[in-house]
Amino acid sequence: MSIATISAPRGTSDVLGEQARTRSYIQQLAADLLQDAGYQRIETPTFEATQLFARGVGAATDIVSKEMYTFTDGSGRSLTLRPEGTAPVCRAYVQHGLHRRPQPVKLWYASSFYRYERAQKGRYRQFTQIGAEALGSDDPTLDAECIVLMHQLLSTFRCRNLRLRLGSLGSTATRASYTQLLQEHLRAHHASLAPEVADRIELNPLRAFDSQHPGTLAVLATAPRLLDHLQPHDLEHFRTVCALLDAASVPYEVDSTLVRGLDYYQRTVFEFTSDALGAQSGVGGGGRYDGLVQQLGGPPTPGVGWAAGIERILLAGEVQPPQPPPLELYVCVEPPTRGGDVEGTPSGGARVGRGSHHQGVAFELLLAARAARIRAEIELARRSLKGQLNQAHKRRARFAAIVGEGRPLLRDLRDGSEEQLEPQQLLTRVLAARERA
Ligand code: AMP
Repeated sequence: MSIATISAPRGTSDVLGEQARTRSYIQQLAADLLQDAGYQRIETPTFEATQLFARGVGAATDIVSKEMYTFTDGSGRSLTLRPEGTAPVCRAYVQHGLHRRPQPVKLWYASSFYRYERAQKGRYRQFTQIGAEALGSDDPTLDAECIVLMHQLLSTFRCRNLRLRLGSLGSTATRASYTQLLQEHLRAHHASLAPEVADRIELNPLRAFDSQHPGTLAVLATAPRLLDHLQPHDLEHFRTVCALLDAASVPYEVDSTLVRGLDYYQRTVFEFTSDALGAQSGVGGGGRYDGLVQQLGGPPTPGVGWAAGIERILLAGEVQPPQPPPLELYVCVEPPTRGGDVEGTPSGGARVGRGSHHQGVAFELLLAARAARIRAEIELARRSLKGQLNQAHKRRARFAAIVGEGRPLLRDLRDGSEEQLEPQQLLTRVLAARERA
């Protein structure tokens, strides 16, 4: 009976080889950029109390209402695999009293996130985001810094045809009164709307702006605009963000229809898109969430942040990690002569033969090489000596060391020359070749 094989779940993937290297490289460049700008790494748990997202992200959002991986643990607690990173970071900020530290507290992460979405190119059920969150300042300079950092990051990865859309949602009060105006407009044109937009007029009317439905688009063309209803201080904040981006020469388009899929945003919102991505055009986005920390039980604390998806960066950009440095030493072991490896003793025990002795010497040589920071590997597949040397060539090693009777033999794999050397001398020779390279 054949056993059915098991594949990775839909919307997830294994990251192997070259791809794994490219992803590590993306994370490394992001770490360098963000740490240089004063952001410190944070890691939060993969799962959180479900309540965190219901309260923080908003019960009416798609993420919370449809896309969460929620389960009950052995003690009956409702837990959810994190669908986004801002609410967990704010939870950690409150839990660890980070408001008592000098403000703003600037944190960054590179973590996996989970959403039960319709899987397609660029949209997965497990994906990885690089994100940054800065808590404790409502200075518009911080909004501009966030946007500039994200722009630098995406430019570093040469994301094609990047567009930055920028908007402001105003304060919660502005948004609430604007929401009423929008609802009135949508109700008046109810019949022309896409059914899912019409269904959500009462619950989440702002999401109408995400629709591509022609009738909805026509209705929205004459809808009141949020930017026209901002309070003077929010408008001033937004204008300052725009002026700082002008000064930084970061191009943007003001877009009064930009709403993001999470309820906690206030004031500045932004999104980078790349037309290299097709339907899933968002590479990354973010905004200000001045009420979120308080909503999670902390003191009133402003905050702003963003997240970019690594999978989308890979699709929209050109990332070429440098080649890993080549192997310097491949340690070969003279195979034991037939029957000469482990010999039986009259008492039934085993006596270690010459082959195992050579293996031990070879292993010591490997460890000494690594201690000297030489990139070294040892034969592990019991090949013939010829097979081992072939393998050393395939691995593009600079040298092979052959361990057998007497001192090890160092073979230069470029010119084929060989020399018997004491282990220490052998390593010195390998290091000297690196110096000359
Ligand atoms: P969001 O948290 O929805 O604002 O998303 C921020 C970024 O995360 C997006 O611009 C994408 O780059 C990435 N992202 C969000 N959802 C997914 C997904 N299902 N699959 C792949 N990337 C995603």
